[in-house]
Amino acid sequence: MKKIIIAIDGFSSCGKSTMAKSLARNIGYLYFDSGAMYRAVSLYCLQNGLIENNEVNEEALRLAIDDICISFEADPVTKNSITLLNGVNVEKEIRSLQVSRIVSIVAALDFVRTAMIEQQRQMGKSKGIVMDGRDIGTTVFPDAELKIFVTASAQVRAQRRYDEIIARGDKANYEEILENVRQRDHIDQTREVSPLRQAHDAILLDNSNMTLQEQEEWLVNLFHKTVAAC
Ligand code: C5P
Repeated sequence: MKKIIIAIDGFSSCGKSTMAKSLARNIGYLYFDSGAMYRAVSLYCLQNGLIENNEVNEEALRLAIDDICISFEADPVTKNSITLLNGVNVEKEIRSLQVSRIVSIVAALDFVRTAMIEQQRQMGKSKGIVMDGRDIGTTVFPDAELKIFVTASAQVRAQRRYDEIIARGDKANYEEILENVRQRDHIDQTREVSPLRQAHDAILLDNSNMTLQEQEEWLVNLFHKTVAAC
């Protein structure tokens, strides 16, 4: 069967990762979380003192960017995808609110995007991948055979992120998360480089009122239809 590239883009906390992961598992494709890559670069900045008062030391980051390597591997027990920053497992650290607060600022830097896009294209060289993010269908893989653009209300998305953090056993504040979701939407949509927008050939999915199972069935059907038409 012909292998394709599936690009899933959309707003923060829309459940893109959940849907991309389950789709990849169902169809035997590899899953790549591009947001995790920008989060890992942000963590690198925090770990190396490159952030002060929400400002990035661009000069220092520019010098370091080629030495920041992000890769993914499967957790030997859960089989979930783990993000590695220069070989170190940072999966938990990159999901902190501290990282969420600065990630959109870091992701708006043109040289950061250039470096990440290059790594992302390498990951898709042999096709057979599902990648989620903000600019996968518009910039990273403009020729992807299947593009989906996901959206849901800011409140629904903040509630989902809140539930996720609480389920992990961590503390969370709904209002703070909602504010972060809105702020990231704004930065992602208005930045100069690769702003978040729906590709002209992407299929729109509003999953505010969809169950995970409905979403999963919808996606697998769409995948089979797309491959049959290729
Ligand atoms: O998907 P996630 O919310 O983890 O992504 C974190 C942040 O990384 C987003 O808010 C966005 O600013 C940035 N991002 C991006 N381009 C991508 C993926 C994520 O700018 N392809």
